[in-house]
Amino acid sequence: MTMRLWKIFGGLKLPGFKSMSMTQQTEAAPLPKILTLPLKQHIGHAAETIVNVGDKVLKGQMIAAAKDYVSTPIHASSSGTVIAIEEYAVPHPSGKMTECIVIETDGKDKWIECVKNANFRQLDASALRNLIRDAGIVGLGGAGFPSFIKLNPGPGNMVNTLILNGAECEPYITCDAMLMQEQSRKIIDGLNIMRHALQVERCIIAVEDNKRSAYTMLVNALQEHEAEYIDIVLIPTLYPAGGEKQLIKTLTGKEVPSNGLPINIGIVCHNVATAAAVASAVLEGKPLINRYVTVTGEGVEHPRNLDVLIGTPFSELIELCGKNRKAEQFIMGGPMMGFEISDINIPVIKTTNCILVQSKKTEPDFVMPCIRCGQCASVCPAQLLPQQLYWYARAKNFDKTQDYNLFDCIECGCCTYVCPSHIPLVQYYRFAKTEIWAQEQEKKSSDIARQRHEFRQFRMERKKAENEARKKQKKELLKKVSGTKDNADDAKKAAIEAAMARVKAKREKQSITPANTDNLTEKQKKEIAEVEARRRNAKEEN
Ligand code: SF4
Ligand code: SF4
Repeated sequence: MTMRLWKIFGGLKLPGFKSMSMTQQTEAAPLPKILTLPLKQHIGHAAETIVNVGDKVLKGQMIAAAKDYVSTPIHASSSGTVIAIEEYAVPHPSGKMTECIVIETDGKDKWIECVKNANFRQLDASALRNLIRDAGIVGLGGAGFPSFIKLNPGPGNMVNTLILNGAECEPYITCDAMLMQEQSRKIIDGLNIMRHALQVERCIIAVEDNKRSAYTMLVNALQEHEAEYIDIVLIPTLYPAGGEKQLIKTLTGKEVPSNGLPINIGIVCHNVATAAAVASAVLEGKPLINRYVTVTGEGVEHPRNLDVLIGTPFSELIELCGKNRKAEQFIMGGPMMGFEISDINIPVIKTTNCILVQSKKTEPDFVMPCIRCGQCASVCPAQLLPQQLYWYARAKNFDKTQDYNLFDCIECGCCTYVCPSHIPLVQYYRFAKTEIWAQEQEKKSSDIARQRHEFRQFRMERKKAENEARKKQKKELLKKVSGTKDNADDAKKAAIEAAMARVKAKREKQSITPANTDNLTEKQKKEIAEVEARRRNAKEEN
């Protein structure tokens, strides 16, 4: 449909290299022998393992539970046996290791029983969010933020527009384009579920105008749904038009505030693949255990998209696509925002959208000083001053980088791309962000330690004060008691005397021989009197 669009600042027209991986239909990648499932595949806390080594698991079974609110569970991508729970290398720019659950598959690919909710409109927003959380769904566009949280606007926040992001603006990556072509109905289903959870009026699906087939398939699917509240919009192909803030600006003309979120202006934005995962979770009861991955670049003979089980090693996919002699550099993601990986045995995780196999290193090996040409600023879609950020990040003046809105940088790489001095600007921004986060974490830890110390001091002082108060109270009581001591002695004496009198009376009573003389004959009375007389005489003689 025709809708008014707004222009974003900066950006670049880049060669797309998209067609090379879109020549064949997406197929399921073969079931690997080993699946490695990291406990942290999302933004937030790592999941907590709920299986042990040796356990048999079924496909779709939860094997690690969400640890906190900002966390999501992990599920077995196929049936088999847990053979290890250890640290392994995972997809991360730092090449770090993290705890993973390793499953040896049994080849049966046997599913756990799935609970379907075909009539999702009978469920309320909270029930839908719980289903989406328990299915382990995170943003599949790259960020990996738990999706159920974005479907919970929170008190005081009104959502009026839900946007599905199908822009996929980065070169080489085509997994979303293929998904829109092949699973357009599922995407619309997912959008309807999200709309129901948010109770939002207006929905927009945004597609770049170089993806005509995807657009057509979505339009066709929409006609089947008769959902007039959904607009499918073609937006100009420009990098990074698919950035969340840039897409919102293009579609609505609204700016997300600096350090703010789309929800602050009544908008929620999800990726098209996330919508499809939501549909699978709610309508089919299937958790997030697979995703479309683009395997492309000059380093593979048959670039294409594959439907891949989470946990599959990169190496198996690269081999499947025909790794060739040009395969020298491996990138997870695209050439602009992706990061290089050194170990291709790392597993596909929920946020793996593309494996780019390059023929040669793309980074120049010479870097020259900044000549203050200003080209970086002219292409920055966040309207930052990249050269200033670079100076301060390089000088480790992190306060200054924040003054220049470092955290508004979306790491799109446009500045690096145009810099005539070949300065790896984004690397400096990533470094600065990591350092700031680390410092904040350290501060948080020391704040917690200080609070603990202060609380301990408080507890000790309170205990001391309580002891003092108890002692004082006892002392006062004793004093009070000693003030009435004479009276107390008299009372005590009287009580003792009374007790002694009672004992004496009792003894006397006991010394009198029971008469038991009722109803006696005269003869018996006489005999008793004689016995008593004898006793008295005997006593007196003694
Ligand atoms: S583009 Fe490069 S050389 Fe030019 S101002 Fe920016 S950092 Fe400096
Ligand atoms: S990487 Fe950051 S500073 Fe550079 S152009 Fe993109 S948003 Fe601007």
